[in-house]
Amino acid sequence: MTYRLNDKIRDLKPYEPISGQYRIRLDANESFLPLPDDIIQKIRQETACAAYNRYPDSTAGELCERFAAYHGLNTESLTAGNGSDELISVLCNAFLMKGDSILTVAPDFSMYKFYASLSEANCVEYQKKPDLTIDVDDMIRCAARHNTKLIVFSNPCNPTSLGLKREEVRRLITSVPALVVVDEAYMDFWDQSLLPEAEQYDNLIILRTCSKAFAMAGIRLGFAVANPTLTKALHAVKSPYNVNTLTQKIGALILSEPEWIQASIRKVVESRDELYRGFRQLEADVGADMHVYPTVTNFVLIRLENAKEIYDYLLKAGIAVRFLGDFLRITAGSGEENAEVLRVFADALKR
Ligand SMILES: *Cc1c(COP(=O)(O)O)cnc(C)c1O
Repeated sequence: MTYRLNDKIRDLKPYEPISGQYRIRLDANESFLPLPDDIIQKIRQETACAAYNRYPDSTAGELCERFAAYHGLNTESLTAGNGSDELISVLCNAFLMKGDSILTVAPDFSMYKFYASLSEANCVEYQKKPDLTIDVDDMIRCAARHNTKLIVFSNPCNPTSLGLKREEVRRLITSVPALVVVDEAYMDFWDQSLLPEAEQYDNLIILRTCSKAFAMAGIRLGFAVANPTLTKALHAVKSPYNVNTLTQKIGALILSEPEWIQASIRKVVESRDELYRGFRQLEADVGADMHVYPTVTNFVLIRLENAKEIYDYLLKAGIAVRFLGDFLRITAGSGEENAEVLRVFADALKR
């Protein structure tokens, strides 16, 4: 029998991160800090004796307790996911009906639109202002006009590196008759989180990832934080064993090292500031063809006339950054990596 793929997936291509070997990887906003030896030792001990023949804890209880303790939250407001990516997928699939309207903003993280389209939602995209900031009142009107059921955006934003202040996000949440999903993937690098008040809202879900500030991209771990009613619904619709035993153990261990996490975040922020200053210096040197955006994340966004050429030049020199049309997004790296990307970037600009 012949089989035809349906319309919504026929033309999809697998997600393709940069392939190939690069000596410097500043393209995926990961932490540049490896785990220290003492934590690695603890992970060895913990994982040597796990019951691998058994299914994992479906509620990821201990893991959620550690995350709750780290942030001062209640465990009843937590759902663990196989990366926050999985949680975005679950949210789109379960909280949207076919044809419902979902509001995303542009530019923003591409996965929202992707999962919305798989769930056959009607995706409305709110265009940010030319300076890449959001006019919240305009966005609220846009949501009303399209009878939006779900609004999702990252704050601070990937890729713009800009953030919306708490007060603005509160205004949005309290003004729309829709579920608001605020993806705080980079909020560990800023101070405008709504986590402490997440439970107060009927219509708010906050996503957090362990892939960026917590240096755990490899184990795939993220959390949704919401009031107990929404959390129960999330638990009911996620797949039962979505977070595997290894991730639960390793995640719980690392979350029990708040001093290490805090020190790591400080180092990443220092690195980010150094990278930002370096690019601002280059901007001052070359003038109008280049603009460096302010950043409250672990990366720097640059608008460039000849972004593609610079990107190719960096790749040839063994340095991977993220190419986004007229923009390049560059993750904060180690001191040496930052110095090297700035050096090669300056070279490229001279050509
Ligand atoms: C990196 C990132 C994530 C993280 O996804 P994981 O699946 O947890 O690794 C989520 N949202 C945004 C905006 C990101 O940039």
